[in-house]
Amino acid sequence: MMRFYELQTPRESKYTGTLRARHKWGSLPGIRCPECKATWAGGMTAYPGADLSTLAERGEYEKPRPEPLDEFVRLRELVRPRVPPGGQLLPGAKFGPLVGTASGTFSPLFFYYVEKPLVHREALEKLQAEGVRGLRGFPTELRFRQKKHPELLELEVLPHGRLHPDCTPQDRRPACPKCGCDNYTFPEEPILEAASLPTHTDLFRLSDFETIFIGTERFVETVRRLGLEELDIREVPVR
Ligand SMILES: [Zn+2]
Repeated sequence: MMRFYELQTPRESKYTGTLRARHKWGSLPGIRCPECKATWAGGMTAYPGADLSTLAERGEYEKPRPEPLDEFVRLRELVRPRVPPGGQLLPGAKFGPLVGTASGTFSPLFFYYVEKPLVHREALEKLQAEGVRGLRGFPTELRFRQKKHPELLELEVLPHGRLHPDCTPQDRRPACPKCGCDNYTFPEEPILEAASLPTHTDLFRLSDFETIFIGTERFVETVRRLGLEELDIREVPVR
């Protein structure tokens, strides 16, 4: 049985990288739900390869704002053909390459901004050459403040896999049947639901907590062997 690990940027880092950048085509709006009355966004998945340039409605993704559920669904379905099949499209999902400025230093795998996971091109090529599966890096349109800098690609880290119900609060309300809103805190002792875990990729984010990156044993072993450190790595049990 493959082991799985949660991957986080360490609280203390020798790297100083900061971004002032956004995804070129913007994001899905938030939802104002008529059923549960919640107004929410929070989708952290970015689709850096999504090209909205030929979509007549592309301007409607530029400004983050809540929309009624029907309008959200209309805008979501317009972009669905432009993201990978099965891609989760929560309110707030982001589209297009990163545009903006970067400064400071960046670790080879830089997960400080969970909606903008970055990788050095050489690090990505090494991981792929070592057989790590499912990694896709996309060019960024970042301008650096300093001359000497690595080539940064944005990783497309798709949502797959869920927490096991045993580790979520026992008294939590069921998800809203209309908008899917399902709000609870990430557990201190997470457990992954075995049947939900992907078998085709070694890096993903949880579909019920898009802020949480999960790597397989293959990913973690390769990262350690190549010395692409600067991640806090903790094993998450599977049931
Ligand atoms: Zn709702």
